[in-house]
Amino acid sequence: MSAFSLSGRTALVTGANTGIGQAIAEALARAGARVICAGRRSSAETVRRITEAGGRAEEVQVDLSDPMAAVPLFEGAGIDVLVNNAGIIRRADSTDFTEADWDAVMDVNLKAVFFTSQAFAREVLARGGTGKIVNIASLLSFQGGIRVPSYTASKHGVAGLTKLLANEWTARGITVNAIAPGYIATNNTEALRDDPVRAQEILGRIPAGRWGRAEDIAESAVYLAAPASDYVSGAVLNVDGGWLAR
Ligand code: NAP
Repeated sequence: MSAFSLSGRTALVTGANTGIGQAIAEALARAGARVICAGRRSSAETVRRITEAGGRAEEVQVDLSDPMAAVPLFEGAGIDVLVNNAGIIRRADSTDFTEADWDAVMDVNLKAVFFTSQAFAREVLARGGTGKIVNIASLLSFQGGIRVPSYTASKHGVAGLTKLLANEWTARGITVNAIAPGYIATNNTEALRDDPVRAQEILGRIPAGRWGRAEDIAESAVYLAAPASDYVSGAVLNVDGGWLAR
């Protein structure tokens, strides 16, 4: 069997209803996984696309503004792959940034990532299985960004947590890695793309010469979910059209 096959594996993707999460869910299904598409809204469209392409998927609704909300999903579910993709961003000058915008972003982007990963790992270890965690980090896991203080703090946190969990769990059969997407055309970056000056500034420094598409991220997630990456753990893989090399 191909080292990139996910046949016989079950994956859970958070934020699978749109954007990068949707593309990842579809790619995991193409690689053979049964995919549980989790989101605060229905992921029916993602499930439809997967099943029409001959794959297996189901949806579950979970609102990660409660960082413990996904914990009950793992008990007895036999999930082998967890993709922590759900994330939000709030923009304002740091002089004006509110506690509500700080807490909302940290809860979804960082606290939920930790407690969802903990629930996943507990279940994998209890059944004596192996597992793969793929976190979605950001260029702002490495760079500072502008007017997004809680987002930058949360994504630096995701990179750190990826390494910490890799240190604790790799020897126990769970690899933990992250993908740092570049500038990808999704809802998350709509405000940037609507600002002609910022959009042009960003495009001008992407070596690939174009914004990324959600599909550009998806196959890297397959790699980090598949046996091909069994000796890869604690890595943050930049999928950014060359941005960080600039
Ligand atoms: P997106 O289209 O806004 O997708 C974000 C996903 O997270 C959506 O499915 C969203 O659901 C879900 N989500 C948000 N809050 C949630 C909650 N409380 N409970 C459950 N799900 C929730 O943006 P995206 O670009 O695909 O973002 C996916 C990930 O990539 C995020 O972690 C983001 O930070 C990261 N990322 C994106 C870029 C980029 O350039 N686009 C770059 C670096 C990193 P709703 O549809 O209901 O909002």
